[in-house]
Amino acid sequence: MPDTAADTNGRAGGCLCGKIRFVVTGEPDYPHVCSCIHCQKRAGGPLQSWVGFPLDGLRWTGDGEPTWYDTFPGETKRGFCPTCGSHLAALDYGDTTIGINLSALDNQHDPHLAPVNQSFRSTAVAWLPQVPDTQLSTAG
Ligand SMILES: [Zn+2]
Ligand SMILES: [Zn+2]
Repeated sequence: MPDTAADTNGRAGGCLCGKIRFVVTGEPDYPHVCSCIHCQKRAGGPLQSWVGFPLDGLRWTGDGEPTWYDTFPGETKRGFCPTCGSHLAALDYGDTTIGINLSALDNQHDPHLAPVNQSFRSTAVAWLPQVPDTQLSTAG
């Protein structure tokens, strides 16, 4: 099945243990990596990779929803599997876009999901090359 930017069949993903599964549909929005402190702490690594999808196209298809943790109370929450700890998603309260961790998707190799920028370069580790800014807009 070809991967297209507007894959109406959706993109499936889930956590390491399989408890939390999801499907997202619609256009991927601003795939990027982020090296902010929150992403580094949560990942246990130097960065996380993100891609947005329309919130109304998200369906949780496994055993419930992730556990949500407010990284900025009242503003932003991040979802992870309560069993295996895999990081899955982030949502700004009131937003219509869900941020999905690229690593949670079953097919990370979709060329439409290649990161186009890196956020919070100032807190990035010095020992990894940074993702070049190849986006066409200044969004994000
Ligand atoms: Zn899990
Ligand atoms: Zn971040």
